[in-house]
Amino acid sequence: MMMVVSAVIGTVVVAAARNPSQQPQSAPPPPAPPSAAPVKAAFPTKYVVLTFDDGPDAAYTPKILDILATYEAKATFFEVGKNVTKHPELSKRIHDAGHSVQNHTWTHADLRHLSATAFRQQVTSTDQAIQAAIGSTPGCLRPPYGGMDPTVRQRAKALGKDLVVWTVDSRDWTKPGTTAIVQRVLKNVHSGSVILMHDGGGNRTQTIAALPTILKSLKAKGYGFRTLTC
Ligand SMILES: [Zn+2]
Repeated sequence: MMMVVSAVIGTVVVAAARNPSQQPQSAPPPPAPPSAAPVKAAFPTKYVVLTFDDGPDAAYTPKILDILATYEAKATFFEVGKNVTKHPELSKRIHDAGHSVQNHTWTHADLRHLSATAFRQQVTSTDQAIQAAIGSTPGCLRPPYGGMDPTVRQRAKALGKDLVVWTVDSRDWTKPGTTAIVQRVLKNVHSGSVILMHDGGGNRTQTIAALPTILKSLKAKGYGFRTLTC
């Protein structure tokens, strides 16, 4: 499968290839199905992809969803399968709000250090948990720690997954302070950036405090928000 970036425009989801050589971003969006609402806004050509990893988390994910809703921003959540089974209702809420739910392994395992069987279990168990929660199976796989090697790539491909990492690391997980998180994102962002943040895996108070300023600034600079599907 090929990774695509989608923009949610009203109820219409328009998908375009990230690789301009495969499908130029200047190409017109595909026609909307007859039952869909009319497209009201232009497909954003200046955009970022917001990604949140390691959830869902009962304390932090709802707060992040509320902030995203306030700023009308869509994001992609790379979820840990064992967390999905604890809070399938949160995965459902994320999906129903128009965000993308994708695979981040079952236990946040480093995929470079697994047997073929363990690799498959990490990925397919998470697929099944997400499928049970939202009714569709993720095509994107984000390897924990960004850990990739030729074996990881080959095994992911064999399972039909596209590996997706990031281009801007907020390093929010190091808890450097709200200002540092905001500045790290805003200094490094450009159109097409895939921004890494976290809604689970630890105390995300600083991420939540930083997010409104990040979203406000990105919108003021003219960025739209696209989500990932694969
Ligand atoms: Zn992670």
